[in-house]
Amino acid sequence: MPRADFQPVIGLEVHAQLLTRTKLFSRASTSFGAEPNANTLPLCLALPGSLPVLNAAVVELAIRTGLALDCTVNEVSEWSRKHYFYADLPKGFQITQYEHPICEHGGLDVALPGGDKRIRISRIHIEEDAGKSVHDGAAGASLIDLNRAGTPLLEIVSEPDLRSAEEAAEYLRTLRGVLLALGVNDGNLEEGSFRCDANVSVMRHGATAYGTRVELKNLNSFRFVQAAIEVEIDRHVELIESGGAVEQETRLYDPDRNETKAMRSKEDAHDYRYFPEPDLPPLVVSAEAIAAARAALPELPRAKQRRYVSALGLSEADARFLTQEPGSSAFFEAVLQHYRGEAKKAANWMTGELARLRNASGEGRVTPGALAELLTAVDQGRISSNAAKEVLGVVHQSGEAPSAVIAARGLEQVSDTGAIEKVVDEVLAKNAADVAAYRGGNQKLLGHFMGQVMKAMKGKGNPQLASELLKKKLGG
Ligand code: ADP
Ligand code: MG
Repeated sequence: MPRADFQPVIGLEVHAQLLTRTKLFSRASTSFGAEPNANTLPLCLALPGSLPVLNAAVVELAIRTGLALDCTVNEVSEWSRKHYFYADLPKGFQITQYEHPICEHGGLDVALPGGDKRIRISRIHIEEDAGKSVHDGAAGASLIDLNRAGTPLLEIVSEPDLRSAEEAAEYLRTLRGVLLALGVNDGNLEEGSFRCDANVSVMRHGATAYGTRVELKNLNSFRFVQAAIEVEIDRHVELIESGGAVEQETRLYDPDRNETKAMRSKEDAHDYRYFPEPDLPPLVVSAEAIAAARAALPELPRAKQRRYVSALGLSEADARFLTQEPGSSAFFEAVLQHYRGEAKKAANWMTGELARLRNASGEGRVTPGALAELLTAVDQGRISSNAAKEVLGVVHQSGEAPSAVIAARGLEQVSDTGAIEKVVDEVLAKNAADVAAYRGGNQKLLGHFMGQVMKAMKGKGNPQLASELLKKKLGG
């Protein structure tokens, strides 16, 4: 088992598009889905004489992110030009932060099977995105769309602290959850507004130096991130075991073949001819702005999870499920505004039946108030939990009030003690021999009596009341 002799080492670079209305250095719109090149101003096209003007909203979002990820926010940071030629980069350089990024030295706690692990974050810097090349077969040409050119990105770089593909995927999920909670990014891997490059190397257990790393691109789902890292680890181990060496390069993941292939040899920083951006002064952030951002931080997913477990009695798994997206935790907390029963019950319904319906047929029309009403009806014995599932399915589709669905379908349980007692008496009278056997010690017959009572009541008797009455009468 050669693979067991090696320790994988992984560091991730995440590019997150910031949710600002306008671009990093111009007032051009960032709206998604506009006509190609509609969202461009002279700066996006690199027209002579156009100059960058920093969008203050970007800085605010970067500070918020840095604080949430436990970074030092630098009061002074700097802009650099990173040069390369590509058709979707008309300026011939990207404005980024190089030697002095806005945030450094942070960390993110990731919940792993063995407990929390802190993954250090080396830096977070602001940079502008490039445009897009559209390879249009119909036009027989490659076309350029500069709508994305100049869109603000945060690059969040982890230290090589991750030790497996699962850890890497979990770090990414956690980071995405934090960015969503902060409202700085929409977390969409498929559309590329949350992009990840994975740096992978292996070393023998006990080695003191890291192995040569490869940078993986084209990882646009959590599944691909994990699969690509796995196959890359295998490739390194096989190479080394067969006497070869890993080359430092950038590789593309091909999900159809589940393999990585060489894209280009890894460029070094000096290849980019970084130099200070002459058109922008250093970025200065006041201590007051940092303090204000700190005071305005929302409750983050990990803190929410801990609160759900300790104060509300949820399981760790349910707490995590409910805090993956801000919409889920907001829904859950809104249910608790209306529902007086156990929070754990509300959580069970959200992670169970409601999640099942949503997976099968989309978001649906269940409101927090409707779920609370349904749970209350179950608690009060007005409907059985099976009937509640039926009602939830209808409400999910139609958005009707649960009470209306319960009435229309005649799902209300009989919780009238007198009515149930009458049926119980009839059943016991008809089964004198079984009653004697029960009293003689055959306790299993209780289920048999219950079955008959429920059958006589067409399934609508409140089972708890029926069982209590049966036991009382049989015991007496
Ligand atoms: P570059 O600027 O060339 O991309 P960085 O030093 O910024 O290089 O590192 C980029 C990423 O690579 C970081 O996330 C870092 O954790 C990761 N990394 C560095 N060395 C290794 C290694 N030996 N194995 C795996 N990942 C690594
Ligand atoms: Mg890099």
